[in-house]
Amino acid sequence: MTVTHDFNTILSRFSLSASQLTMGGLTMSQIENIVGDNAFYAYDKHIIAQTIEQLKQQLPNQIKLHYAIKANPYLPLLHFIAPLVDGLDVASQGELMKAIQTTTPNHNISFAGPGKRDPELLSAITSGVIINVESPTELLRIEKLALTQHNIAQVALRVNPAFELKASGMKMTGGAKPFGIDSEKITKLIDYIDNSAMEFRGLHIFSGSQNLNPEALIEAHNKTFELANELLSQRIKQSKISINIGGGFGIPYFPGESELNISGICDNLNLLLNQYKKLCQNNEIVMELGRYLVASSGVYVSKVIDIKESRGTKYIVTNGGLHHHLSNSGNFGQVIRKNYPVAVANQLENTPTETVNIVGPLCTPLDIIAHKVKLPSIVIGDHIVVFQSGAYGATASPQQFLGHPKVNEILL
Ligand SMILES: *Cc1c(COP(=O)(O)O)cnc(C)c1O
Repeated sequence: MTVTHDFNTILSRFSLSASQLTMGGLTMSQIENIVGDNAFYAYDKHIIAQTIEQLKQQLPNQIKLHYAIKANPYLPLLHFIAPLVDGLDVASQGELMKAIQTTTPNHNISFAGPGKRDPELLSAITSGVIINVESPTELLRIEKLALTQHNIAQVALRVNPAFELKASGMKMTGGAKPFGIDSEKITKLIDYIDNSAMEFRGLHIFSGSQNLNPEALIEAHNKTFELANELLSQRIKQSKISINIGGGFGIPYFPGESELNISGICDNLNLLLNQYKKLCQNNEIVMELGRYLVASSGVYVSKVIDIKESRGTKYIVTNGGLHHHLSNSGNFGQVIRKNYPVAVANQLENTPTETVNIVGPLCTPLDIIAHKVKLPSIVIGDHIVVFQSGAYGATASPQQFLGHPKVNEILL
């Protein structure tokens, strides 16, 4: 049996009209007319809203949901999503600027990331955004800056636990890591903050990304609650804080992967909220997700410019490629390149008849859109759609490379 993508689930979120993919009632060639003659990303509002709605129905009410905007910081999308979630997480001053201009109150915005420069810290202190502190020296710099400004810095400590999130696409904790402060150093620092002019606002325990294994996430949640409870048990001052338990929910990208079933994860979260009742009633529990909220809402669409044969292999050359969609090309943290789900947008119901390689216009063999995919017979002018492209797309790609036009984006 050949391992394939789960196209039924993917397509069930979208509308079809006469074998054509549509979004907001428009075909891909109509969207191209609107945005201009270039490859584009289109994001579907209804899919985003539905994804968040379904997640909230299953998550315990007590858990607050934050959106990590680095997954997709496209402004119209950010302004659409901000009122649907409880907070935003940013990772730079640029993202902070975007976040504070949404409907989200600044005290529900948190700023994580190693190596924050003084101007970035100043921006966070002045705007009242919570700073997830990544090292003891960063904490001292924040304290000093806040004093010069006669301002109270809102700080949370990002913890690097001794455990790691198993089966994760990207591990961010366990052992030596550039992220967070080793858990054994945390209680002393909480004490330091509580005795300073800074306000202690919480703990941030983010253990990894792109995880499709419920058991691994459940195990990480168990350890996260246990660790948070332990770290806070000695605390003398009892102001309400927020405990960010991370996210890590993954999205199926490759053949054989299926949607993450979150029902067991949510049942376990309910158990944990009960088991650590005192901790959870006195404080706020936050989960932060990026890709899970937006990835399935987005498609990347490029147009076929040329078709050629080379020694028995058929190449479909389009006006889009790795400069717009690095992760689809396999060059954004993948060890072995696999295809994202790909289709011909204007021939969705036509029978696949030939195996082709789809490439972009860059002069590098890395510029792959899809390798050896079976598709209907393609002609010049057809539109190639890459699904699951709503996260880590335009802003996670080297758009200057080779000087082609920037990708277009639209929220529909
Ligand atoms: C990147 C990041 C996220 C989002 O990760 P996803 O895999 O997109 O959900 C959340 N929190 C922090 C601290 C991050 O760095």
